[in-house]
Amino acid sequence: VSRRWVVVGSGVAGGIVASELLAGGDEVVMLESGPAVPMRDRRVWYDVLMGARDPYAAGRLPDEVLANPEAGDYLRGKLLRLRGGSTLHWDGWAFRFREEDFRLRSLTGRGADWPITYEDLEPFYARAEHTLRVAGDHRDPGHPRREGPFPLPAFPYQQCDERFLDGLAALGAHAQHTCLSRNTQPIDGHARCETIGTCLYCPIGGRFTADLLLDELERSPLFRLETQARAVRIALAGGRLVGVQRARGDTTELLAADGVVVCAGALFSAELLLRSTDALHPGGLGNRSGHLGRYLMNHTGLLGIAAQASNPRRETNEAYTFQTAMSRAFDDPAHQAGGKFQLQQDLRYASDLDGRLGPLARGVLDGRSAGEIARELEGPVFRALLPMTEELPLPESRVSLQDGKLRVEHRRDPRVLDALERARVVCDELFDAMGCQRIQWMDPSPYAHLMGTLRMSAHPDDGVVDPDLQVHDVPGVYVCSSGVYPSTAAVQPTLTLAALAHRLGAHLRSSPSPGAPWNPDADDP
Ligand SMILES: Cc1cc2nc3c(=O)[nH]c(=O)nc-3n(C[C@H](O)[C@H](O)[C@H](O)COP(=O)(O)OP(=O)(O)OC[C@H]3O[C@@H](n4cnc5c(N)ncnc54)[C@H](O)[C@@H]3O)c2cc1C
Ligand code: SF4
Repeated sequence: VSRRWVVVGSGVAGGIVASELLAGGDEVVMLESGPAVPMRDRRVWYDVLMGARDPYAAGRLPDEVLANPEAGDYLRGKLLRLRGGSTLHWDGWAFRFREEDFRLRSLTGRGADWPITYEDLEPFYARAEHTLRVAGDHRDPGHPRREGPFPLPAFPYQQCDERFLDGLAALGAHAQHTCLSRNTQPIDGHARCETIGTCLYCPIGGRFTADLLLDELERSPLFRLETQARAVRIALAGGRLVGVQRARGDTTELLAADGVVVCAGALFSAELLLRSTDALHPGGLGNRSGHLGRYLMNHTGLLGIAAQASNPRRETNEAYTFQTAMSRAFDDPAHQAGGKFQLQQDLRYASDLDGRLGPLARGVLDGRSAGEIARELEGPVFRALLPMTEELPLPESRVSLQDGKLRVEHRRDPRVLDALERARVVCDELFDAMGCQRIQWMDPSPYAHLMGTLRMSAHPDDGVVDPDLQVHDVPGVYVCSSGVYPSTAAVQPTLTLAALAHRLGAHLRSSPSPGAPWNPDADDP
């Protein structure tokens, strides 16, 4: 064994970085502040189905963690502090950012550029799609340049997609198969997704969740995962890394490390660096510029609902998070200056307009007869359109420490509302083209895609980590999180995070010692 790494956080980022380090022959100790919960367990699944039990209750964020409990409303039910992190209940939408997303400031004069390009990340996107087992169709319009097909074929469009696809065509806008991290075929010993649609808790492992990656890592004698073990401080002496202070039960002790990779998500990665103060770093690690914790970003979505008079073919989509068709027609360079957005759709029923159950499950739970359910299926039914928009970074949106607790402040960039207003106009035209009568627009609401807080920058004056994800001026300490994103793009963040994790792994494997400069020619992704 040449080096010992401490990886903080057992989510998808930590799992991929650890797998890369192990492949290079290094030893990895992973710290996870939350416990493990049973996954792929039929008993738990039945309890979830009958609506009685939250399988992830042990990992929800308690209010006492936050200095401003009102922020809990913003985060409640979203982040999971568990073995495997938040992908345990993610939707598995897995898109690449587009080329222009890495050059927001250069192209629009707003926000920030990434110090790396799409070309730098492209080979690692391909690796990430294999790791996350992404199903998609490379022939669809809307994808950025790519070298080859997806590892899995796309889920076919459903009957209920047809109106949406026809409506988009009438508007001259293209559609595409949703890129989903769900197994259209059995792959690498993982079950095929049976499209059961209870993806909050998948009973068979039909999609990627990071605990599956950890199961593989735990077979290695070089890997040790400690759950309910929290990193409380990264310890340096004379500017050099010593290790990580870890709290477990009533004990706090120092774990010596040659290198540390912080993979604790956008909030808690920033928190750990803010807490790691010393004489050389009074404001926390990587905070010489005062950027640490700033530029917290998220995606914002709208929900529009329209009535469809009848549904003679009894079209259904049983799982609202399992849309098979979407559009990136408004996520392109032409829409970047005003705010890009992506477009999703689904079909809903009167008995469950704002819920997450389809008519069959809802009907069974409500004790309705087969005839009553059939009548509801035949209509009138409702169409939902869901645009989701990019957000600009604001310095006042931030995480900080107050009285020893985490303070989370997020202010929505005003351009988001302009972009959503444009999206609303497009959607109203689309509802017309789909032959539906719009009845309601809900208020804009945040997603669970936290980004920013640890901005990646070429120069220490402009951010927290360098393009190799090393904390500026702190050799041997790295961050791998969507916290490093300088901008959000208009698609979900996790595939890009997985690509960054593979890229960091390649860098660390080819570096003779943590903190050494990278020779990209030494690695062949
Ligand atoms: C409901 C929901 C749906 C989503 N759907 C999608 C989607 O469809 N597509 C998409 O791209 N993204 C989606 N996301 C976002 C996605 O889940 C995240 O981008 C992803 O999980 C981030 O991975 P991570 O490894 O950075 O962090 P996490 O998954 O948050 O894991 C970090 C881990 O670090 C641990 N930790 C924190 N602090 C410490 C500490 N000090 N010491 C030790 N451990 C610590 C935490 O307990 C946690 O388990 C969704 C999120 C939610 C909540
Ligand atoms: S549709 Fe079913 S099998 Fe597929 S991921 Fe969701 S819960 Fe698992």
